[in-house]
Parts: sequence; C-alpha cells; structure tokens
Amino acid sequence: MINKLYWLPIGQLDIDRSSLNHHAQPGELVRLQIWSYLLETDHGPILIDTGMPDSFIDNPNYFKSTPFEGRFIPHMSADDSIVAVLNRIGYQPDDIHAIVISHMHMDHAGGNPHFPNTPIYVQQTEADAAIGNLEYAPPECVQADLNYRLLQGDHELVPGLQLFYTPGHSPGHQSALVTTKESGPVMLTIDVAYTQENYANDVPFDGFDREQARQSIARIQQIVQEVKPNLLFFGHDPEQVAVQPVYPQYK
Ligand SMILES: [Zn+2]
Repeated sequence: MINKLYWLPIGQLDIDRSSLNHHAQPGELVRLQIWSYLLETDHGPILIDTGMPDSFIDNPNYFKSTPFEGRFIPHMSADDSIVAVLNRIGYQPDDIHAIVISHMHMDHAGGNPHFPNTPIYVQQTEADAAIGNLEYAPPECVQADLNYRLLQGDHELVPGLQLFYTPGHSPGHQSALVTTKESGPVMLTIDVAYTQENYANDVPFDGFDREQARQSIARIQQIVQEVKPNLLFFGHDPEQVAVQPVYPQYK
C-alpha cells in the first residue's frame, strides 16, 4: 500500500493540437501540463517520471532551426526542474528510493541525470530504442551511464505500485496503477492516452505504433473494469489538468 500519491506540476509544453487528435486541423498550439508523480511509501519516496531537461529552462527556442521548430515549445523555469521541486518538498535527489520512467520522451525522462545513484526502472524495449539515441529525445533523456533497471513486462515494484507494459505511444511505454491508503486504486495511464477522447473514443494521437497503442488502451480499459479505480488520470488531458489537485494535496 502506498501512503500518499502527489501530483507535481513541472513545466509545460506547447504542441500542435493535431498531435492530441489526428482529426483536428494542424496550426493551433495547445499547452500541455508536464507531470511527475511522487509516492510516499514505507521504503521511501518513489518518483514516476522526471519531466523536461534543464536545457529547456528559460529556453522556449530550444527546437529552433531543428525539424521540430514550431511543433514543440517548452515553457520551463528553474523552479520547474525536478530537483528544485523536490527541494521545496524537503528532498535531495539521493533521498529518492526509486524512479519509474513511463517512457523516455522529452517530457518524461529529462531530469534523469540528476539521479545518478537512484535505480531507474524502465522497460527493456524502451531502453533499447532510446538510450544513447539522440534522435529519440534530448541527450538528458537518453543518457547511458545511469542506474537503469530494465523491466520486461508488468511488474509490481512495491506493494501498491503495479506497472503495466503498455507499448504503442512509444516502443516500451508503461502505465502505473497506484493503490493508496486513503483513496484506493488510482490509474495513471500516462501517455497510453494523452486525453479522455484518445482513451474512450479511439481518437488517434501521436505515437510510435498505432495498432499497438490501441491494444494497450484496450488492456488498460480491461484492468480499469476489473479494478474500478477511483481516478483514471490521463497523460496530458487539458480538462483534467484544470481540476486536478496538486501537491501538497494528495490521494
Ligand atoms: Zn508526455
């Protein structure tokens, strides 16, 4: 059982609306909230995802003169760095017992280099595609010499933290079911679905393998039917962001 689950907002990223919904007309940017999740457990604090890299700080032009110019515009201040966020809570990086990385995209694995001593749990297929591959994500997200622990499929990391292998959005994406003392099960789909409509209405969004992504959504839907979580939280749903309580509130 997990004692507390906190939502940590750690910067924002503008992307084209059509990335969230392939039926939408391109040309309009939408602002996505970037998240890390902090779990207080009997083993110590566990983080799910580490946000964007420090090279995005005060640097909305990071992607200028690259193929991604105009498609990704980061909005990150020094206060949004995962280390700064943890410091405000009272933690140093070495206090973190373990890190789970859902996948190694720019908005999920960017803070990893701050945790050279912490075990970082990532799926093998994600690591194979990403680590050392500078075409996959910014260098901080794919840094090789970290303390990776490679998973092959579903895994219960500690009691109350169940990871589900949900590839498709990326080659080795994983989602998390967190069961807390006060709230019971909470399903963090992460980027198996950016939004409710990706999840519920089969609206396609950006990803690596559309058919695999569909199967992973179906798998999460099946688990949700069985477990009946009290909250189903999507990766970057703007409507959900508007109402989700963040640290110091918790589930
Ligand atoms: Zn994402």
